[in-house]
Amino acid sequence: MDSVFGCPTTVSNVETVAVAPAICRRGGAWFAGFGRERNSGTKLFNISGHVNTPCTVEEEMSVPLRELIERHGGGVRGGWDNLLGVIPGGSSTPIIPRHVCDDVLMDFDDLVRAETALGTAAIIVLDKSTDVIRAIARLVEFYKHESCGQCTPCREGVDWMDQMMWRFVRGEAAVSEIDMIWELSKQIEGHTICALGDGAAWPVQGLIRHFRPIMENRIGQYNKKNPPREPEIEMM
Ligand code: SF4
Repeated sequence: MDSVFGCPTTVSNVETVAVAPAICRRGGAWFAGFGRERNSGTKLFNISGHVNTPCTVEEEMSVPLRELIERHGGGVRGGWDNLLGVIPGGSSTPIIPRHVCDDVLMDFDDLVRAETALGTAAIIVLDKSTDVIRAIARLVEFYKHESCGQCTPCREGVDWMDQMMWRFVRGEAAVSEIDMIWELSKQIEGHTICALGDGAAWPVQGLIRHFRPIMENRIGQYNKKNPPREPEIEMM
């Protein structure tokens, strides 16, 4: 139960409804005993991607991400050292690299500290075989497809980000465009009617925050294979 306009209100969220009988039977204090202060209770965590046993599991809030993946997801394919990064809260939340995954806790406060979010607690595990630029480009493409077009920053901005991201996948871009797409994502974030604009911007920000050297390297590789052509000199 929650409260809207000071009146008892049922939140029609399946996870909430499912956990309500146990809370009624055992009491609020029992439920609040799980997890850390301000992050209490249990949560349904969905673990997908490069793990040995993808699953959905109910666990205590504030469980360490690594413990969750190793105990319930059967570990990262190829072992923990083969981990590239994790998208911890569904496709809209910024990716975190392996060194952050080592000790981050799966709760609201610790994931905000790690510059990402708990979101839907749908964890996507990416191992080192992942083309992380392509993975993020695919997410932006999804959000572009889902945009209803009501607000300009989302309608136009996510389309621009989509076009730019596929050029970053090929390396066919200037290094200065990394700062440009960062700025573009900031102009979308917080400037739209619904959260879809944020959801499209955050994956790009996570990519740049942690994997910028990979983007720059891809651009360098492309330029090595495709050196800029000398301007043709007209003979008089
Ligand atoms: S942010 Fe939401 S409301 Fe605005 S265009 Fe995108 S999907 Fe539509």
